[in-house]
Amino acid sequence: MLALKNKIKVEGKVLSDTVLKVDSFLNHQIDPQLMKEIGQEFAKLFHEAGITKIVTIESSGIAPATMAGLIMDIPVVFARKRKSLTLSKNLYTASVYSFTKKETSEISVSGDFIQPNDVVLIIDDFLANGQAVLGLIDIIEQAGARLSGVGIVIEKGFQSGGELLRKQGIRVESLAIVSSLENGKVVFAEEEQA
Ligand code: 5GP
Repeated sequence: MLALKNKIKVEGKVLSDTVLKVDSFLNHQIDPQLMKEIGQEFAKLFHEAGITKIVTIESSGIAPATMAGLIMDIPVVFARKRKSLTLSKNLYTASVYSFTKKETSEISVSGDFIQPNDVVLIIDDFLANGQAVLGLIDIIEQAGARLSGVGIVIEKGFQSGGELLRKQGIRVESLAIVSSLENGKVVFAEEEQA
């Protein structure tokens, strides 16, 4: 997606060879116009998949997931990272190791919001080693729902998550695939360059 890649080129900050900071439009401040275009792109990619629900993880997956949900006219559920007193019964939970925080956390979704007849699209901001997506897949399986595919805003193609998921036959659509962050420079995967 050209507009996204241009935004990353102009505003993305390379923190290390493995971490990209996009605080100015996705992870802290949000660019609603770009989020709308991202939502439209996901809606276009998955419009024939019969999706009934989008599942994401708080907090940075919520903006792109909500825009996709608005355009696809389906509800969006975000997995919570902290246990809430109001979220105590009928919970599906999974453990997720965070690449950026270097810690394991428990994520949970209420059984009220994923049903066995749901066809689910997972959306997240970044794909690195795939742990967040695997945690969400675990929850979808516990609910007996069906996974249709995974929509990622920025995939870091040099990390293992994309291959791990695609090797399992999971459809993964990434709007920008970064092939390297070496020497402080963002390089996109060749096939993504238009
Ligand atoms: P994974 O679970 O695939 O290893 O990592 C994905 C999660 O870690 C995403 O939900 C995202 O929040 C965070 N993450 C991974 N890599 C990056 C990165 O380079 N930049 C930012 N901002 N977040 C990242």
